[in-house]
Amino acid sequence: MIERINSISSYLKKEFGEKTVKLSIDGGFTCPNRDGSKGFGGCVFCSEAGSGDTASTIEEQKKLLSKKWPKAKYLAYFQNFTNTYAPVSILREKFEAVIEDESISGLVIGTRPDCLPEDVLDLLSELNEKTFLWVELGLQTIHEDSADFINRCYPLEVYDSACRNLKKRNIRFVTHLILGLPSESKAQMLDSVKYVCESGTWGIKLHLLNIIKGSQLAKTHPCYKPFETLDEYVNLVCDILEYIPDDIIIHRLTADAPRPILISPPWSYRKRSILNGINQEMRKRDSYQGCRYKRI
Ligand code: SF4
Repeated sequence: MIERINSISSYLKKEFGEKTVKLSIDGGFTCPNRDGSKGFGGCVFCSEAGSGDTASTIEEQKKLLSKKWPKAKYLAYFQNFTNTYAPVSILREKFEAVIEDESISGLVIGTRPDCLPEDVLDLLSELNEKTFLWVELGLQTIHEDSADFINRCYPLEVYDSACRNLKKRNIRFVTHLILGLPSESKAQMLDSVKYVCESGTWGIKLHLLNIIKGSQLAKTHPCYKPFETLDEYVNLVCDILEYIPDDIIIHRLTADAPRPILISPPWSYRKRSILNGINQEMRKRDSYQGCRYKRI
């Protein structure tokens, strides 16, 4: 089968020789956008669990996954809240404890670009020598109006600086973008994607905006539909993929909100249908990731 998308699952299969899956870990961190040091209330789309609603214990996850993939390799994914927002001694303790576990082949750390001071970058460099590592940065949009709307609480130049610092240290990083923010046009979403593609990012995560229970958006925009139909979303993602260079790894193409907390769009829980739709549409177009990309 022709691979039209440079997906993280294929990349990890080649890197580790087996199906490789991420185990979600709640490291017990909080977020500067919730405790008042940057903002209060968090980003408007964020759930009470800090965008990590699928996390359960490592052992429970391994047990479940090993039924499907008995030889699977595992990466530990610090997902909930901001996983570099603590003194470096605490970060070291938590991350090293996990990579000492022989069943763990690598480390994934989700954070904000404004939570990467020099001492944390030094620790990440060390970890990068010891294990397979990538860092995830929640950018969501390059447009300052939208950033204000989502209450991101840092400007775009902070992302630029984090990218430079990570690149300098050869630390892989993945950038998160949200598709469907209120008042963002398709052209604006594409502008965010194109900008990120020039940042040195190793990977991209495209998230469909979900309105979920417990978020600020659920209170202010409970009826907001980021896209009218699943097909509209599928077409947008295919258009976007055509502009992402083929050496950037695609980590996500939609969202992952569990059905019980999902408010809108009502079809968002149908992840398999969305992914199948994207694959079918790419085939129908005879299209590939990066086919419309022009290096600046
Ligand atoms: S999305 Fe991330 S940065 Fe924003 S409030 Fe949630 S945990 Fe904090």
